[in-house]
Amino acid sequence: MSKKHERIHVDETVLCKLCLSELGEIYADLELTSDELDLLDMPRRSFTVHFPARMDSGKTKMFVGHRVQYNDARGPSKGGIRFHPDLTIDHVKDLSFLMVLKCSVANIPFGGSKGGVVVNPKELSRNELEQVTRGYIRAIADYIGPFKDIPAPDVYTDEKIMVWILDEYERIKGMHVPAVVTGKPLELAGSRARSYSTSLGGIYVLEEALKKAGLSELPKGVAVQGFGNVGENAARILHEKGYKVIAVSDSKGGILSRAGLNIPGLMAHKAKTGSVADFPGAANITNEELLACDCDILVPAALADQLNEENARDVRAKIVLELANAPTTIGADEIFFEKKIMLIPDVLANAGGVVVSYFEWSQNLNSEYWEEDKVVRRLKNVMISAFNDVYGLCHEEKCRMRRAAYQIGVKRVLQAERLRGNL
Ligand code: GLU
Repeated sequence: MSKKHERIHVDETVLCKLCLSELGEIYADLELTSDELDLLDMPRRSFTVHFPARMDSGKTKMFVGHRVQYNDARGPSKGGIRFHPDLTIDHVKDLSFLMVLKCSVANIPFGGSKGGVVVNPKELSRNELEQVTRGYIRAIADYIGPFKDIPAPDVYTDEKIMVWILDEYERIKGMHVPAVVTGKPLELAGSRARSYSTSLGGIYVLEEALKKAGLSELPKGVAVQGFGNVGENAARILHEKGYKVIAVSDSKGGILSRAGLNIPGLMAHKAKTGSVADFPGAANITNEELLACDCDILVPAALADQLNEENARDVRAKIVLELANAPTTIGADEIFFEKKIMLIPDVLANAGGVVVSYFEWSQNLNSEYWEEDKVVRRLKNVMISAFNDVYGLCHEEKCRMRRAAYQIGVKRVLQAERLRGNL
């Protein structure tokens, strides 16, 4: 390995544990030049803002927000906004790089970004949440826009927050700009199927993987970690398709029923009690027990680093479908490969969200509304062709699927940079 590649390994503070160690090797495999490495090594724009928001008590509180626009060679930067008390600029950088790869693997014309506010939204009233959202958008308004950088929902942000983003941006600009943000409600320039597109896109990929790997006859017992928008929709769609969802969890606890959970009943239970725990007829389990339960398909749909060197050997699933961003550390990924567990990586598995965001953006720019059928059909096509690209390379190179996906993502970004004359 050249000195340059070693440098990437050392720069661990800049990129996440997961992408970085993987990327160092991928860069070496692709024999990148030092110009190419330099170009990928740092985000194009990365900033932190401090902004005031008025609390219900009448007091003004200062908040910290970040936004990182990692690369926009293939199109405007695209990526969600998360509200989380532990958010750091370094993590936002990692996640924005994953967005670059994700849009590239899905082959949609976007670069990648990510942002967020350091806050626990569960401690804010609805009005305070609105003030924080609007304050953050006022602070970053000059740097976003339909042809610059387009935010979307991410961890703990939803449709109503996307409306506040839209409204605040339009007030500042003095005109309608629906394509400035995606993940909006249908009644306000949103797209059909966007609310469940991450989950559905992942399931299309899963079904293609089962077919290609000759696992179609697998009994299909599923465990889902996380019951936010993505986890809940995944459990619902899998249940509707006849899979047996045997375990789910959320931040307050998990449940297991070997006979299969009644997902519509569970959704009602969660809406009523605020958690999946204590669901009648199911046993309460811990998060660790969920990850190690006897299932065929494990779907991490919560936060990063959940599957790691400590617990990866306990996983009994044959397929891991990463609907969360970066839920598996590189060490765990290697253990899965050794154990012949097929891991479908986040940049492929959860790309359905940003793919339908692309459709939403495109509908907004053309003042169109597509029928649900059209959105779903096009989503399926994009997901299956992305899967085939990754799976094809994986077979050729006999490598892990994440490695193949990253290679494809990196190559396409570099090609765009080359065509622009930056290389
Ligand atoms: N936050 C989602 C993701 O990580 C969606 C991003 C988007 O739609 O722009 O993929």
